[in-house]
Amino acid sequence: MSTVDPWISPGLQTNDLKALYEISRLVTSGESLRPIIDQLIRLARSIFIFDNIAMFTKQTEEILEPIFARAIGRGRWLEADLTWGETVAKEVYITGQFTSRIEALPGNEQDRNLLRYYLGLPVYISGSMGGVLVFTRFGGPPYLEDQIELANRLAFHLAQLIEYRRLNDRLTRLEERCKLGDMQEDFISMISHDLRTPLGLIKGYATTLLRGDAAWDGKTRHEFLMIINEEADRLQEMIDHLMDSSRLQAGTLSMNMQKVCLDHLIREFVKQALIRDAKIALSLEIKETNNWVQADSARIGQVFDNLLSNAVKYAPGSPIIIELGQENMMARVVVRDFGPGIPPEHMENIFRRFYRLPGHDVHIRGVGLGLYICRQIIHAHHGEISVISQPGQGAVFQILLPLDHQA
Ligand code: ADP
Repeated sequence: MSTVDPWISPGLQTNDLKALYEISRLVTSGESLRPIIDQLIRLARSIFIFDNIAMFTKQTEEILEPIFARAIGRGRWLEADLTWGETVAKEVYITGQFTSRIEALPGNEQDRNLLRYYLGLPVYISGSMGGVLVFTRFGGPPYLEDQIELANRLAFHLAQLIEYRRLNDRLTRLEERCKLGDMQEDFISMISHDLRTPLGLIKGYATTLLRGDAAWDGKTRHEFLMIINEEADRLQEMIDHLMDSSRLQAGTLSMNMQKVCLDHLIREFVKQALIRDAKIALSLEIKETNNWVQADSARIGQVFDNLLSNAVKYAPGSPIIIELGQENMMARVVVRDFGPGIPPEHMENIFRRFYRLPGHDVHIRGVGLGLYICRQIIHAHHGEISVISQPGQGAVFQILLPLDHQA
């Protein structure tokens, strides 16, 4: 009667080839690394018996770091220990040759777990020694020649997997850098265009006023100086927006939170806005009073300012209504205009950095940062800002801020 020894693999069988084929297919699949390694180990175990597998990769010239270890078979009752086979790994790394050795740990001689048969194989990544693969069998038996060949094939596939992943990561990083580079170029050309416009006007009018060969009457001088003044304000606003936006990105925009009465803040805001520009048809409706919130009043004022100047800019001549009320324990501020409104497909995007609706009149200036900054400020107050709009029927911006109950 012949007995079949399960440890001995009589050359490569069809099933071995199938498993190896499946392994090489896995290596180039787009799945993430961990599940692939798990599947790879499962497939490897179907053609080659082992209790533990550990992979070490080269971190620097001298340092080998374990990147994974799995205990299977008998070893699964023990905790997979990353240090199993570490000495074997170091030896293989130094010699560049596979090694097979037995380690007998002190303790009960009957305990098979203390008798470890190691097989260490070099893993060549991109043509040079990049790591070591170590198999462990508890209590034997020793590794036979054709098993070592199978193990070598597994090491080769693992090396391919690591190489493929590294290349993929490098490619992703490169793509990201290119994208960032493109974005930076777009950004620089957009910003320089937007900064140049007011700067050009300031320079042009100032040079004109300074010409020695022309005598300007008082009215013209005043008109030119007004333009210079307005354009300088615009420039200042753009630079402030850019600074705020980069501080928000870096998380360094500080907030000075205090207990604030929104009724008072908004009344004062409307009063000042009408003093600055008496022509705007701005009205205030306070539906509920005593709206106390925790806020940085300067930053919240900046949000109202931005919503109001957008309404003036994008809905010229339209009445603008600011409402203050409450909704679900939140203070609710609404800025409503009756201008062209915002098409539904753009409604969420307008809160993104540098997003502007296409096709604006060239005279309507802006860089698309105002609403992004508003949303970040409102989020820093644990509130929400949103827009509702029907094209042609105006835009309604709503801000919700948590009421301060201790008021
Ligand atoms: P900017 O005004 O500098 O372009 P914002 O971030 O303040 O940037 O606004 C983003 C875009 O949202 C604007 O470019 C405009 O297309 C649109 N928008 C903002 N407010 C209104 C409004 N009240 N009515 C119509 N469109 C608006």
